[in-house]
Amino acid sequence: MAIDATVREYLLLHLERLQQAYGRERTLAVQVRASAAPAEPEPPRFGAGRSGRTPPQFGRGARPQGQQAVPGQESGPAQPQPAPGDRPTAAAPAAAATPAATPTPSPAAAANDPLAALRAETTGCEKCKLCERRQNVVFGEGDPNARVMFIGEAPGANEDRTGRPFVGAAGQLLDRIISNAMAFERSEVYIANINKCRPPNNREPQPDEVASCLPFLREQIRLIQPAVLVCLGRVAAQNLLGRKESATKLRAMELAYDEVPVVVTWHPAYLLREPSRKRETWEDIKRVNRLLGRPEVPPKKS
Ligand code: SF4
Repeated sequence: MAIDATVREYLLLHLERLQQAYGRERTLAVQVRASAAPAEPEPPRFGAGRSGRTPPQFGRGARPQGQQAVPGQESGPAQPQPAPGDRPTAAAPAAAATPAATPTPSPAAAANDPLAALRAETTGCEKCKLCERRQNVVFGEGDPNARVMFIGEAPGANEDRTGRPFVGAAGQLLDRIISNAMAFERSEVYIANINKCRPPNNREPQPDEVASCLPFLREQIRLIQPAVLVCLGRVAAQNLLGRKESATKLRAMELAYDEVPVVVTWHPAYLLREPSRKRETWEDIKRVNRLLGRPEVPPKKS
Protein backbone atom coordinates (compact mmCIF):
# COMPACT_ATOMS: atom_id res chain seq x y z
CA MET A 1 0.00 0.00 0.00
CA ALA A 2 1.39 3.42 -0.92
CA ILE A 3 2.14 5.67 2.05
CA ASP A 4 1.33 9.31 1.76
CA ALA A 5 4.52 11.36 1.43
CA THR A 6 3.72 13.47 4.48
CA VAL A 7 3.02 10.40 6.58
CA ARG A 8 6.26 8.77 5.34
CA GLU A 9 8.26 11.83 6.27
CA TYR A 10 6.65 11.89 9.70
CA LEU A 11 7.48 8.21 10.22
CA LEU A 12 11.10 8.61 9.17
CA LEU A 13 11.55 11.62 11.41
CA HIS A 14 10.37 9.62 14.41
CA LEU A 15 12.12 6.32 13.68
CA GLU A 16 15.22 7.40 15.49
CA ARG A 17 13.22 8.08 18.63
CA LEU A 18 11.49 4.71 18.31
CA GLN A 19 14.84 2.98 17.86
CA GLN A 20 16.17 4.65 20.97
CA ALA A 21 13.06 3.64 22.92
CA TYR A 22 12.55 0.05 21.64
CA GLY A 23 15.81 -1.03 19.98
CA ARG A 24 16.93 -0.93 16.33
CA GLU A 25 15.80 -4.46 15.24
CA ARG A 26 12.17 -3.96 16.29
CA THR A 27 11.82 -0.78 14.25
CA LEU A 28 13.93 -1.78 11.19
CA ALA A 29 11.06 -3.43 9.30
CA VAL A 30 8.94 -0.30 9.63
CA GLN A 31 11.86 1.79 8.37
CA VAL A 32 12.42 -0.43 5.30
CA ARG A 33 8.74 -0.37 4.35
CA ALA A 34 8.54 3.39 4.77
CA SER A 35 11.71 4.02 2.73
CA ALA A 36 10.67 1.68 -0.07
CA ALA A 37 7.17 3.07 -0.42
CA PRO A 38 6.68 4.64 -3.86
CA ALA A 39 6.00 8.32 -4.00
CA GLU A 40 2.42 9.32 -4.55
CA PRO A 41 1.77 10.43 -8.12
CA GLU A 42 1.50 14.16 -8.71
CA PRO A 43 -2.07 15.33 -8.98
CA PRO A 44 -3.02 16.20 -12.55
CA ARG A 45 -2.43 19.76 -13.63
CA PHE A 46 -5.21 21.32 -15.53
CA GLY A 47 -4.27 23.46 -18.50
CA ALA A 48 -6.00 26.70 -19.34
CA GLY A 49 -9.21 26.23 -21.21
CA ARG A 50 -10.62 28.39 -23.92
CA SER A 51 -12.50 31.43 -22.88
CA GLY A 52 -13.27 34.74 -24.54
CA ARG A 53 -11.37 35.87 -27.58
CA THR A 54 -9.59 39.16 -27.86
CA PRO A 55 -9.23 41.12 -31.04
CA PRO A 56 -8.12 40.18 -33.58
CA GLN A 57 -10.64 37.43 -33.79
CA PHE A 58 -8.10 34.59 -33.82
CA GLY A 59 -6.85 35.59 -30.36
CA ARG A 60 -7.20 33.06 -27.57
CA GLY A 61 -7.84 34.50 -24.14
CA ALA A 62 -7.36 31.54 -21.89
CA ARG A 63 -4.25 32.34 -19.93
CA PRO A 64 -4.04 34.20 -16.64
CA GLN A 65 -2.88 37.77 -17.04
CA GLY A 66 0.88 38.14 -17.12
CA GLN A 67 1.49 34.62 -18.34
CA GLN A 68 2.49 34.40 -21.97
CA ALA A 69 2.33 31.11 -23.82
CA VAL A 70 5.74 29.81 -24.81
CA PRO A 71 5.29 27.25 -27.54
CA GLY A 72 6.51 23.90 -26.41
CA GLN A 73 6.78 25.12 -22.85
CA GLU A 74 3.34 26.35 -21.98
CA SER A 75 3.68 25.74 -18.27
CA GLY A 76 7.45 25.66 -17.89
CA PRO A 77 10.21 28.21 -17.48
CA ALA A 78 10.91 30.73 -20.20
CA GLN A 79 13.33 29.73 -22.93
CA PRO A 80 15.76 31.99 -24.80
CA GLN A 81 13.68 33.97 -27.25
CA PRO A 82 14.45 33.68 -30.95
CA ALA A 83 14.38 36.67 -33.24
CA PRO A 84 10.96 38.01 -34.19
CA GLY A 85 9.23 35.83 -36.73
CA ASP A 86 11.18 32.71 -35.83
CA ARG A 87 9.85 29.39 -34.69
CA PRO A 88 10.55 28.39 -31.09
CA THR A 89 13.51 26.20 -30.33
CA ALA A 90 11.63 24.00 -27.88
CA ALA A 91 9.42 21.11 -28.89
CA ALA A 92 5.81 22.13 -29.31
CA PRO A 93 3.25 20.72 -26.89
CA ALA A 94 1.55 17.53 -27.83
CA ALA A 95 -0.86 18.01 -30.66
CA ALA A 96 -4.53 17.52 -30.21
CA ALA A 97 -5.89 14.40 -31.81
CA THR A 98 -5.20 14.87 -35.49
CA PRO A 99 -5.95 12.82 -38.54
CA ALA A 100 -3.15 10.66 -39.86
CA ALA A 101 -0.76 12.06 -42.40
CA THR A 102 -1.60 11.62 -46.05
CA PRO A 103 -0.36 8.15 -46.96
CA THR A 104 2.29 7.73 -49.59
CA PRO A 105 0.43 7.15 -52.86
CA SER A 106 0.76 3.97 -54.84
CA PRO A 107 2.85 4.20 -58.05
CA ALA A 108 -0.35 3.93 -60.10
CA ALA A 109 -1.99 6.83 -58.24
CA ALA A 110 1.17 8.89 -58.39
CA ALA A 111 1.39 8.41 -62.16
CA ASN A 112 -1.89 10.31 -62.61
CA ASP A 113 -1.28 12.88 -59.92
CA PRO A 114 1.90 14.96 -60.18
CA LEU A 115 1.51 16.29 -56.62
CA ALA A 116 1.16 12.75 -55.29
CA ALA A 117 4.18 11.74 -57.36
CA LEU A 118 6.17 14.60 -55.82
CA ARG A 119 5.06 13.49 -52.35
CA ALA A 120 6.24 9.98 -53.14
CA GLU A 121 9.58 11.37 -54.29
CA THR A 122 10.15 13.09 -50.95
CA THR A 123 9.16 10.09 -48.84
CA GLY A 124 12.55 8.42 -48.90
CA CYS A 125 14.55 11.54 -49.66
CA GLU A 126 18.14 11.59 -48.41
CA LYS A 127 19.27 14.72 -50.19
CA CYS A 128 20.38 16.42 -47.01
CA LYS A 129 21.45 15.46 -43.49
CA LEU A 130 18.02 16.21 -42.03
CA CYS A 131 16.96 12.75 -43.20
CA GLU A 132 19.14 11.17 -40.52
CA ARG A 133 16.98 12.00 -37.50
CA ARG A 134 13.53 12.54 -38.96
CA GLN A 135 10.58 10.32 -38.11
CA ASN A 136 8.47 11.51 -41.03
CA VAL A 137 8.87 13.67 -44.07
CA VAL A 138 6.32 16.47 -43.74
CA PHE A 139 5.40 17.08 -47.34
CA GLY A 140 2.47 19.43 -46.80
CA GLU A 141 -1.27 19.10 -47.06
CA GLY A 142 -4.42 20.81 -48.21
CA ASP A 143 -6.40 21.50 -51.34
CA PRO A 144 -4.23 20.81 -54.42
CA ASN A 145 -6.18 23.62 -56.11
CA ALA A 146 -5.92 26.01 -53.18
CA ARG A 147 -5.94 29.74 -53.95
CA VAL A 148 -3.78 30.50 -50.97
CA MET A 149 -0.72 28.62 -49.81
CA PHE A 150 0.92 29.08 -46.40
CA ILE A 151 4.63 28.42 -46.17
CA GLY A 152 6.42 27.84 -42.90
CA GLU A 153 10.01 27.12 -42.06
CA ALA A 154 10.34 23.44 -41.19
CA PRO A 155 8.55 20.75 -39.16
CA GLY A 156 8.74 20.74 -35.38
CA ALA A 157 8.45 17.79 -33.01
CA ASN A 158 4.70 17.25 -33.43
CA GLU A 159 4.91 17.62 -37.18
CA ASP A 160 7.81 15.18 -37.34
CA ARG A 161 5.84 12.69 -35.26
CA THR A 162 2.60 13.00 -37.23
CA GLY A 163 3.92 13.76 -40.71
CA ARG A 164 1.58 16.79 -40.92
CA PRO A 165 2.44 20.49 -41.05
CA PHE A 166 1.42 22.88 -38.26
CA VAL A 167 -0.33 20.55 -35.83
CA GLY A 168 0.99 21.84 -32.46
CA ALA A 169 -0.12 24.95 -30.60
CA ALA A 170 1.14 27.15 -33.43
CA GLY A 171 -0.81 25.04 -35.89
CA GLN A 172 -3.96 25.47 -33.88
CA LEU A 173 -3.47 29.23 -33.97
CA LEU A 174 -2.92 29.05 -37.74
CA ASP A 175 -6.19 27.12 -38.01
CA ARG A 176 -7.96 29.95 -36.17
CA ILE A 177 -6.38 32.56 -38.44
CA ILE A 178 -7.54 30.63 -41.50
CA SER A 179 -11.01 30.17 -40.09
CA ASN A 180 -11.67 33.46 -38.31
CA ALA A 181 -9.78 35.94 -40.50
CA MET A 182 -10.29 34.22 -43.85
CA ALA A 183 -13.49 32.20 -43.44
CA PHE A 184 -11.71 29.21 -44.94
CA GLU A 185 -11.47 25.68 -43.68
CA ARG A 186 -7.94 24.40 -43.23
CA SER A 187 -8.71 21.86 -45.95
CA GLU A 188 -9.39 24.70 -48.42
CA VAL A 189 -5.85 26.11 -48.27
CA TYR A 190 -2.48 24.43 -48.71
CA ILE A 191 0.17 24.37 -45.99
CA ALA A 192 3.81 23.46 -46.56
CA ASN A 193 7.30 24.27 -45.30
CA ILE A 194 10.60 25.30 -46.81
CA ASN A 195 12.20 22.13 -45.39
CA LYS A 196 10.29 18.88 -45.18
CA CYS A 197 12.30 17.23 -42.41
CA ARG A 198 12.75 18.48 -38.87
CA PRO A 199 16.05 20.20 -38.02
CA PRO A 200 17.52 18.96 -34.71
CA ASN A 201 16.22 20.94 -31.72
CA ASN A 202 14.13 23.02 -34.13
CA ARG A 203 17.17 25.01 -35.21
CA GLU A 204 16.92 27.03 -38.39
CA PRO A 205 17.52 24.99 -41.53
CA GLN A 206 21.06 25.51 -42.79
CA PRO A 207 21.74 26.90 -46.27
CA ASP A 208 22.76 23.52 -47.74
CA GLU A 209 19.60 21.93 -46.31
CA VAL A 210 17.43 24.69 -47.78
CA ALA A 211 19.17 24.37 -51.14
CA SER A 212 18.49 20.63 -51.16
CA CYS A 213 14.82 20.90 -50.23
CA LEU A 214 13.63 24.09 -51.90
CA PRO A 215 13.15 22.45 -55.33
CA PHE A 216 10.38 20.31 -53.78
CA LEU A 217 8.52 23.39 -52.56
CA ARG A 218 9.05 25.20 -55.84
CA GLU A 219 7.50 22.25 -57.65
CA GLN A 220 4.60 22.19 -55.17
CA ILE A 221 3.92 25.86 -55.88
CA ARG A 222 4.15 25.26 -59.62
CA LEU A 223 1.63 22.42 -59.41
CA ILE A 224 -0.80 24.08 -57.01
CA GLN A 225 -0.64 27.51 -58.71
CA PRO A 226 -1.95 29.51 -55.76
CA ALA A 227 -3.15 33.07 -56.28
CA VAL A 228 -1.36 34.24 -53.12
CA LEU A 229 1.54 32.89 -51.08
CA VAL A 230 1.73 33.66 -47.37
CA CYS A 231 5.16 33.28 -45.78
CA LEU A 232 4.95 32.57 -42.06
CA GLY A 233 7.95 34.24 -40.48
CA ARG A 234 11.31 35.56 -41.52
CA VAL A 235 13.02 32.25 -42.30
CA ALA A 236 10.32 31.13 -44.72
CA ALA A 237 10.26 34.49 -46.48
CA GLN A 238 14.02 34.89 -46.72
CA ASN A 239 14.54 31.41 -48.09
CA LEU A 240 11.66 31.43 -50.57
CA LEU A 241 12.48 34.89 -51.88
CA GLY A 242 16.26 34.86 -51.49
CA ARG A 243 16.16 38.05 -49.41
CA LYS A 244 17.96 39.17 -46.26
CA GLU A 245 15.60 41.74 -44.76
CA SER A 246 13.99 41.33 -41.36
CA ALA A 247 10.43 40.09 -41.01
CA THR A 248 9.37 43.63 -40.10
CA LYS A 249 10.74 45.01 -43.37
CA LEU A 250 9.48 42.09 -45.45
CA ARG A 251 5.96 42.52 -44.05
CA ALA A 252 5.90 46.06 -45.36
CA MET A 253 7.04 45.16 -48.87
CA GLU A 254 5.10 44.20 -51.97
CA LEU A 255 6.72 40.95 -52.94
CA ALA A 256 6.20 38.24 -55.51
CA TYR A 257 7.48 34.79 -56.25
CA ASP A 258 7.24 33.83 -59.91
CA GLU A 259 4.66 36.58 -60.33
CA VAL A 260 2.55 35.21 -57.48
CA PRO A 261 2.00 37.90 -54.80
CA VAL A 262 3.68 37.06 -51.50
CA VAL A 263 2.49 38.38 -48.15
CA VAL A 264 4.86 37.97 -45.23
CA THR A 265 3.37 37.75 -41.77
CA TRP A 266 4.43 36.61 -38.32
CA HIS A 267 4.95 32.94 -37.62
CA PRO A 268 2.09 31.65 -35.42
CA ALA A 269 4.64 30.41 -32.85
CA TYR A 270 5.91 33.98 -32.54
CA LEU A 271 2.33 35.19 -32.10
CA LEU A 272 1.94 32.78 -29.19
CA ARG A 273 4.91 34.47 -27.52
CA GLU A 274 3.93 37.98 -28.61
CA PRO A 275 0.12 38.14 -28.76
CA SER A 276 0.29 41.92 -29.26
CA ARG A 277 1.46 41.19 -32.82
CA LYS A 278 -1.82 39.52 -33.69
CA ARG A 279 -3.20 42.87 -34.73
CA GLU A 280 -0.47 43.11 -37.40
CA THR A 281 -1.22 39.60 -38.61
CA TRP A 282 -4.86 40.62 -38.81
CA GLU A 283 -3.83 43.45 -41.17
CA ASP A 284 -1.62 41.08 -43.21
CA ILE A 285 -4.48 38.64 -43.65
CA LYS A 286 -6.82 41.43 -44.71
CA ARG A 287 -4.25 42.15 -47.43
CA VAL A 288 -4.29 38.48 -48.44
CA ASN A 289 -8.08 38.61 -48.68
CA ARG A 290 -7.86 41.71 -50.89
CA LEU A 291 -5.33 40.01 -53.16
CA LEU A 292 -7.71 37.08 -53.45
CA GLY A 293 -10.44 39.48 -54.57
CA ARG A 294 -12.46 38.86 -51.42
CA PRO A 295 -13.73 41.26 -48.79
CA GLU A 296 -11.06 42.25 -46.26
CA VAL A 297 -13.09 40.49 -43.62
CA PRO A 298 -15.01 37.74 -45.37
CA PRO A 299 -18.31 36.81 -43.78
CA LYS A 300 -18.24 33.62 -41.79
CA LYS A 301 -19.74 30.58 -43.45
CA SER A 302 -23.11 29.72 -42.03
S1 SF4 B 1 14.78 18.17 -45.68
FE1 SF4 B 1 14.15 17.97 -47.83
S2 SF4 B 1 16.05 17.61 -48.94
FE2 SF4 B 1 16.48 17.20 -46.78
S3 SF4 B 1 16.13 15.00 -46.57
FE3 SF4 B 1 14.22 16.01 -46.03
S4 SF4 B 1 13.03 16.03 -47.93
FE4 SF4 B 1 15.16 15.60 -48.49
